[in-house]
Amino acid sequence: MRIFNTLTRNKEEFKPVTPGKAGIYVCGPTVYDFIHIGNARPMIVFDTLRRYLEYRGYEVNYVSNFTDVDDKIIRRAQEEGVEASEISERFIKECKTDMEALNVRPATVHPQATKEIPDMIEMVQQLIDQGHAYCVNGTVYFRTRSFDGYGKLSHKNIDDLESGHRDEAHRLKVSGEDEKEDPLDFVLWKPKKEGEPFWKSPWSEGRPGWHLECSVMSRKYIGGTLDIHAGGEDLIFPHHENEIAQSEAANNQTFSNYWMHNGFLKIDNEKMSKSLGNFFTVRDICGKYDPQVIRFFMLSAQYRSPLNFSDQLVETAKISLERILNGAEKLEGIVAKNNGKELSDAEKKLLTEELPGYVEKFNAAMDDDLNTADAISAIFELVRFTNASTDTETSSTFAKALYDTLFTLSDTVLGIHLTRSAAEISDDEVAKIEALIAERTAAKKEKNFARADEIRNQLSDMGIVIEDTREGVKWKKA
Ligand code: AMP
Ligand code: ZN
Repeated sequence: MRIFNTLTRNKEEFKPVTPGKAGIYVCGPTVYDFIHIGNARPMIVFDTLRRYLEYRGYEVNYVSNFTDVDDKIIRRAQEEGVEASEISERFIKECKTDMEALNVRPATVHPQATKEIPDMIEMVQQLIDQGHAYCVNGTVYFRTRSFDGYGKLSHKNIDDLESGHRDEAHRLKVSGEDEKEDPLDFVLWKPKKEGEPFWKSPWSEGRPGWHLECSVMSRKYIGGTLDIHAGGEDLIFPHHENEIAQSEAANNQTFSNYWMHNGFLKIDNEKMSKSLGNFFTVRDICGKYDPQVIRFFMLSAQYRSPLNFSDQLVETAKISLERILNGAEKLEGIVAKNNGKELSDAEKKLLTEELPGYVEKFNAAMDDDLNTADAISAIFELVRFTNASTDTETSSTFAKALYDTLFTLSDTVLGIHLTRSAAEISDDEVAKIEALIAERTAAKKEKNFARADEIRNQLSDMGIVIEDTREGVKWKKA
């Protein structure tokens, strides 16, 4: 597999530290509210990376944190008059509910900053002992210029960064807040303010800086060198740059061999923000659309390209996904009949000579820096092939072989189920639909076609389409 590495700005062949294994660390959300639809992009994309590597035989150790102590969490806790941990635990739970809806598998480990404080203190002490950090009035800073490679991920020059800080440095000097040796230095440990959660440390009662947690938790749960570190492109600077500085200074080894960053999701071509009124949580969106349509939509673009989200584009994704689901349904129908036919010679030929080509095409797309857009095109081609090569004479064994292949690529690897989600329709609604269909069948028997049409329209208004087939009436959500 080739991966575009932000560090080198090249696509490189993936070579893990330990053959057959992959250690992946993905920066997770800060849990002060429901996750938004932008947060879902890295979750879905890197969950798909994990699934693909597993399908290719790797044993994957997938670690993704929850940032559970932060100014925003503390502010919300103060507004609600509860402990910060109550807010973070509440939204970790809600985040896991959303992940499950989007078929994002739980990580091997989901570490939380507040549960790893002793290890954070240990790394800060190590950096102080090595001369990479210093303490002023209870705050510990990383001495950025002590780390030679600073700027290598974001491709920034340290002197340019320094001059960018000149105004701020001046302001701090004037206001007397200037306690850093250098404006580029960043916080590893900060003392508490009144009413904030805190932990005891050799420097002050306080809490760790945000960048530190990922360096500490990735080392603890994966090791000194990660195979892949991932997150959204907004994290490249300063978050990931600072993680590299801390980890490589402390561990004296490469922090991560590959860096993957997803592009941003925009809403109607605008940045999503609460003030613009175009801010959507995953929970809002999943109330409106089947979550697997959202997953399919997210994977319909290669992860590094920007992705625009709009009702119209999601509707288009929904129609595209239908083609795959209809193809799967046709195969399932043949399998369910279980006609006991042997594979014909023509079917054997299709399985050995044609089917593997579609799988190879899918794999080649995924091997090319996780190009899920092209991988989905390969699935469409596969569906066209399965539609064209099956009919009433097809053996169930042949249909099953086709279905299994489609299932592996779509469900196992991309995480997109082949069956329609029934979750959108409640049991009561199902009962009501079936009662109306029974009434329509009775009306037709009595040749009361006006009533039958009336019921069909009523169902259509409920968003239900019906189809009269030889096996009876079938219905589905439009
Ligand atoms: P945060 O909680 O803001 O730290 O974000 C958690 C993850 O979501 C990070 O990997 C971010 O880069 C990513 N993220 C945030 N907003 C967006 C967006 N609009 N599009 C894509 N990824 C995003
Ligand atoms: Zn991080």
